[in-house]
Amino acid sequence: MNVFVLSMLVYIGMFSPLPYGEKRSSASRRCEALFRRYIVFCGTGYIWEHLVGSQSRFGPRPSLIDPWARSVATLASQTDLSVWDGYTDQAIEDHRESADYGAMVARSQDQGILHLDDLRSLAAIDAVVADLYAQYPADGESATFVASTYTDRELRPVDRRRRLERRIVYSTYHYTAQDPDLVARFARMGLNCTPELLANLHAAYDSMPPKLKPYYRNTQFKLTLNALPTEVRMLWRVEPVKEARDALPRPRCYLCEAGEDSITHMFGGQCTRVARALQVFSANVQVDLSAQATGAQNALASALLLWSRPHPERTQAMVIFNSSVWFQRCNFFAFQGNNTADQTVDRIAREATLNWRLHCHVPKSKSKYGSAGTRTPAQETAARALAHDIIASIDHENTIVAYTDGASRGNPGPCGAGAIITYPRWGAAAGKHTEELSAGLGRGSNQLVELWAIGMVLADIET
Ligand SMILES: [Zn+2]
Repeated sequence: MNVFVLSMLVYIGMFSPLPYGEKRSSASRRCEALFRRYIVFCGTGYIWEHLVGSQSRFGPRPSLIDPWARSVATLASQTDLSVWDGYTDQAIEDHRESADYGAMVARSQDQGILHLDDLRSLAAIDAVVADLYAQYPADGESATFVASTYTDRELRPVDRRRRLERRIVYSTYHYTAQDPDLVARFARMGLNCTPELLANLHAAYDSMPPKLKPYYRNTQFKLTLNALPTEVRMLWRVEPVKEARDALPRPRCYLCEAGEDSITHMFGGQCTRVARALQVFSANVQVDLSAQATGAQNALASALLLWSRPHPERTQAMVIFNSSVWFQRCNFFAFQGNNTADQTVDRIAREATLNWRLHCHVPKSKSKYGSAGTRTPAQETAARALAHDIIASIDHENTIVAYTDGASRGNPGPCGAGAIITYPRWGAAAGKHTEELSAGLGRGSNQLVELWAIGMVLADIET
C-alpha cells in the first residue's frame, strides 16, 4: 500500500463525513474497496499483520486506522443511540427492509446534496448492526443492542466515538473475516475454538508488553497461523501435487528425530524433548505453563495461547519459550544432529531461560537492578549476580560468543571500544580460544564506539 494513498484515506476519514451510499461510485465505497483490497484482503496468512485498530488486537505489527469505520463512528456518535435500545439482530434487519429505511437511503444518495441527518441515521443503524454481530450470537439465538454502553453520560464525545469505532472495526474485520479464519485454522489442527477462547487469544496478544522484542511476537504470530516454515509445511516445494505429496515420507523432527518436523509435533506435546524442556523452563522462571494452569484443552492449544485462564506473565513466558524452541531448531538442531535427550532438553531450556532473563519486561521503576551509574550497593550486587547467571547459561562450548562495549568520557568525547570473543573448541576456529580486542578512537560519540566494538568482532570472526 502506497503510504501516501493511506494517509490520504485517513485524512478523508478523519475530517470529512463521507457521502454515504451503496452505489459503487460513492466515495465511501471506493475508499472502502481500496482500503480493504490493499491492506486487509491480500490473500495470505499474513493479512492480519497490520489489522486495522481493533478492540483488542491480534498480530505483531502496529495497527492501522480504518477511515471507513471512523466515518461511520463519527456520524453515529452524533445521534441518539438510545432509540435503538433493545433492538435484536432480527428486528434491525426487519427495519432495514422497511420503506422508511429505503426512502432514507434514496435521499442520502441524491446527487450533489449532503443530507447529513439521513447519513447520521444510516451510520447509527450500521453501528448498531456492527455491535450486534460483534456479540457472536450462537446459532438460533439473538443478540440485543444495549444502548447504555455508548450513551453513558460520563463518556466524553470523543470516547463515545472511539468506543463505537472499535466495535465497528471489530465487527467488520474480526467477526466477518479474521476470527472465522482463525477458527478454521485451529479446527484443521484438531482444536475446538470457542468465541470465549478467541477473545482470550486477542487479549493475550494485546497483553504482550510493547518492549517485548519483535522476534518473539512474530514467531508466536506465525505459530498461531501455522506459518512457520517447517519441513512438513515446505513439502509443497518438493511435490506440488497434493496426492503425491501426502504419500511422501514425513520429514523428521530435528529435535527428537522420532516425530515429524511440524508445528503440531513440536509444540503439541508429542515431541517429548520440547515437553520436558518446557517443564524445566517453567521451574527455572517459576511460571507454571502446564495446560492445567493455562486451562487449555491440550498442549498444542496451550502453546497457541487458546487459554481459558488468560494471564499476561504466562503469555510472555510461553511466547519466549516457543520462540526459543524455534530459534534453536533453525540455528542449531538443523545443523547439529545426534544430540541426546538430555543435551536437547538442556539446550532449549537454557536458551529460553536466558531469553526470559534478558528480555522479559519488568518496568524500570520495578526493576531491582536500577540503572548503570546510579546503582546502590545492593542493586550492584543483584546486577552482578544476574550478569553471572546469564553468562553461565550461555553455551560457550558450541557457540562463538562476543561481549562488546564502547564508552566515551562526555558524549561526544575521548572514546574507545573493547570486545572479548570466545570461540568453540571445534570447527574452523578450533585453534582460537579467547580474543581480547580494544581500540582507542580519539574523539567521538558513545554510539559510534558501541558499533565499532561490534565491527571489530565481525572482522575478527571473518579472519
Ligand atoms: Zn520432536
